[in-house]
Order: sequence, then C-alpha cells, then structure tokens
Amino acid sequence: MEAVNAEEAFVAVAREDDRSHTCLEAALRERRREARRIRLARVPDRFVAGEESALVHWLSGGEAKPTFKPPRPFERGVNGRPTLVQNVETLANLALVARHGAGWFREIGLEEEPGSVLATVRGAVRRPGVVEVALGTPLRALVDLCGGLSEPSRAVLIGGYFGTWIPAEGNLDLPLAQAALGSVGASLGARTIAVLPRRTCGLSETARIVRYLAGESAGQCGPCVFGLPAVADALDALVGGGSRVGGALSRLDRLAPQIVRRGACAHPDGTLRLVASALAVFADEIDEHLAGRCTGSADAPLLPTASGNGEWR
Ligand code: SF4
Repeated sequence: MEAVNAEEAFVAVAREDDRSHTCLEAALRERRREARRIRLARVPDRFVAGEESALVHWLSGGEAKPTFKPPRPFERGVNGRPTLVQNVETLANLALVARHGAGWFREIGLEEEPGSVLATVRGAVRRPGVVEVALGTPLRALVDLCGGLSEPSRAVLIGGYFGTWIPAEGNLDLPLAQAALGSVGASLGARTIAVLPRRTCGLSETARIVRYLAGESAGQCGPCVFGLPAVADALDALVGGGSRVGGALSRLDRLAPQIVRRGACAHPDGTLRLVASALAVFADEIDEHLAGRCTGSADAPLLPTASGNGEWR
C-alpha cells in the first residue's frame, strides 16, 4: 500500500467461498496494524465478477458487471478514485522481491521469465491440486508433481476456461513459460491446467463449458446476449453428431467474426479462443461425430461448471 500511496485496499474473495474467507480473516487479524486499511470484499459468485472493471463497479456500489473502457480502473476506479487491480499472486511476488531482492527472485525460473507460478491442476493426474513450479518447468514435471498421469491423456487445457487445448502427445516436454506456450498458441492465463483423459470427449467438454460461460456473461453486450448462446447451440449440434455437424461448423465460422472484440470485456473473446482450439485439437473427433460416433464418454465431466464444485476462473 505504501508503494502506491494507497489509503485503502480490498481483498476480493468469492461470496460462497467460506473457507478462503475464514483463512483471510485470520491472516488479517494477525496483522492488526495494516488490517485497519484492508477490507475483505465478498463478491458475487459469478464468472465475470472478477473482471477488473466489474470488481471496481461492485465496490463502488453497482452491479458486479464489467463496464466499457475507457476509463480503466487506474484512471477512474472505486468511487471515482484511481484504483490498482492486481492478482494476489503478483502482489505476493512483489512483496518477496522487496524483501529478498531481484537477484533472489531470479534464482529460479528462466533468464527471460524468472520466478515461479502457482498452477491449479486437475483431470487425469493422481493428485490434483495447486502446485508451485519454476517458470520453464516442463509440463511433464508438473504432472509428475501431481503424482503422474492416472490414465492415458488425449489433450491438455492450458489457462482455464479462456485457455487453449493442446494435444497431450508431443507436448508434455513443453516448458511452462509464456514464450514456449505461445509457440503452440497457448498461454498460462488463469494458471489452471486440466489433463483430459483419453476416454473423455474433448468436444463434449468444450460444449459444456461454453454453455456454462454463455450463461455466466453479464448479459449486457450483443456478443454475449446473442453470440455465445448461438455458439453453445452450434457446439451442442456438433456433439450431437451426424448430419448436423456440417451446419454447426459453418455456423461457428460465421459467428466468430461477429463476436470477437465486440464486448465490453474479454468474456466472449476468451470463450471463442477455447472453441477455436477445441476445433483444431479435436479435429479427428469431429470426423467421428460426423460419422455418428464419439470415441469418448461424456459420463464423467472433467471440468466443473457450477459454483461450489471447484469452479475455475
Ligand atoms: S462482453 Fe459479455 S461478459 Fe463482458 S460486459 Fe459484455 S455482456 Fe458482460
């Protein structure tokens, strides 16, 4: 707070996340002097509520919905005051750099991307959970830290619901760093990684996530109100298979340019990024669906799509 001359700070936590709230309250009690100027804010448990302008709007007494920019929060934020919105992991790293120095921070990670990353891993690993690894750690080593693969994998979703599917085959040695991931069109994004079991249909998973994301928008811009439900319908048709597949693919092609870069926030663009990667990575699966077959099972959904069951952001 001193570094940016802030008078007040808010720590945002999802309203239904009682466990995090209790832990944070205990942490603030331990720091009584600083805690006087830090407020815990329990934000509505909605996907877009964590977007920076939505947070600012809600903390100013409005709805937890993104607003059009400019102004950005650093220009006009909570109650009209300039506001810095940052991920807690970033701030924690800054505090460590301030305490131990830049040289210490650079001891792990890559020359051009030093430090570590907290990754949330789920799916076909023996011990899903949050692990901290140095930037540049190969994806395979991350999986090993989670007990290794629990079964053969078909693909990996890097970066959460706005992330990118990549094929598991040939990519397990990929370093977890922005430059290396960028070479396959991926990004660490929300630092969430899902290992898709071979028996699970990637198209069905994607269709389910997109239906969920379509329902989680703030419902105030055309791309979300009209575009995302139409994308979800097309994906459902794709998953349904048979003669509907061709029409569904054409609809997806037509919809994409009508949606991208037209919303007040990244929700529609992030959703379409996920869809584009699914269509590329599961291309052979599309052929199977066209023939009326699905090589996977949709019985055991991999990614959660409701609050309170480990939702991803
Ligand atoms: S783009 Fe979608 S999620 Fe973002 S503000 Fe508009 S309606 Fe809401």
